[in-house]
Amino acid sequence: MTLTDHQRQLDLKHPWTIARGTSASKTYGFVELTEDGVTGWGEAAHNVRYGESLESIQAALQAARPILETADPWQFHHILESLKAAMPSQHAALAALDIALLDWVGKKLGIPLYRYLGLRPAPLPQTSVSIGIDEPDSIAKKIAEVADFPFLKVKLGTGSDEAIMAAVRDSTNQIVRVDANEGWTTKEVALEKCEWLAGQNVEFVEQPMPAGSLDDLRWLRERSPLPLVADEDVKTASDLPALVGAYDGVNLKLMKAGGIQETLRMIHVARALGLQIMLGCMIESSLGITAAAHLAPLVDWLDLDGNLLIANDPFLGATCQAGTIILPDRPGIGVLERSELRT
Ligand code: MG
Repeated sequence: MTLTDHQRQLDLKHPWTIARGTSASKTYGFVELTEDGVTGWGEAAHNVRYGESLESIQAALQAARPILETADPWQFHHILESLKAAMPSQHAALAALDIALLDWVGKKLGIPLYRYLGLRPAPLPQTSVSIGIDEPDSIAKKIAEVADFPFLKVKLGTGSDEAIMAAVRDSTNQIVRVDANEGWTTKEVALEKCEWLAGQNVEFVEQPMPAGSLDDLRWLRERSPLPLVADEDVKTASDLPALVGAYDGVNLKLMKAGGIQETLRMIHVARALGLQIMLGCMIESSLGITAAAHLAPLVDWLDLDGNLLIANDPFLGATCQAGTIILPDRPGIGVLERSELRT
């Protein structure tokens, strides 16, 4: 296979703030794997939270190159095992290559990925759409833009929690999923927040405390009126067993897991452990989001809105109307480049 890669800058519709910081754009690495006249595409939406940067992605892709040059893409399972060893801890880069491999397989077979996996394309759970941390006026404006979505994901975890929830509840009765992004630092504070949120049509709380606080999480889960969902506490399947008893559910993402194959494995392990499953995302173009959406028939909750936050999405793939995601029926991941459509 031939690997080529390039970078693209994705500009956000609104500056994006969570408990960890603010960004106005994201520049990511994108890959193409070509063999036998067919090209698979992938995206590496790296995250500094997990020790990744544009430079570390590039270095990981360089390490992957010699493996891919001589590999047979039909042996994508074995390729992934070799890549994992060659690029440890660089899961977004691994995800880009895994997505590209499975895109290649689907394109070569002439069928969508969901069909290759034996999945039906509909119905899917409806996706939430995220509201970043902001001033009350801006929050009201953002909520008005997504009034037709059934679920909002509201980012909390700073000193502005009360003002943000007041702005949300002044604007809408939509069901809210809260994501604290590790922002509540003691179990007592986290419990207070969960009790306060329970009366406000909140469905669950995601990652209330810093990753690794599993003893505190078990204490919290025994007392919290709201279910607790792990995000920063879970990357790959080996993280899942320790979460039983500390969390009710897990937020799985291709970019944390290292792609479609590992996320699929995690879905089955999480089910076996009795954990509820959310399929989430980073801020990603429609390439990464559509790749994840092919696994949507297998999960309980969807949070696949990363592409909706981007002003200049280079790709056209899964579409979203009022929270309902429609999978493309083109072969592979089924994504087209928008610039190709215009010419
Ligand atoms: Mg989260």
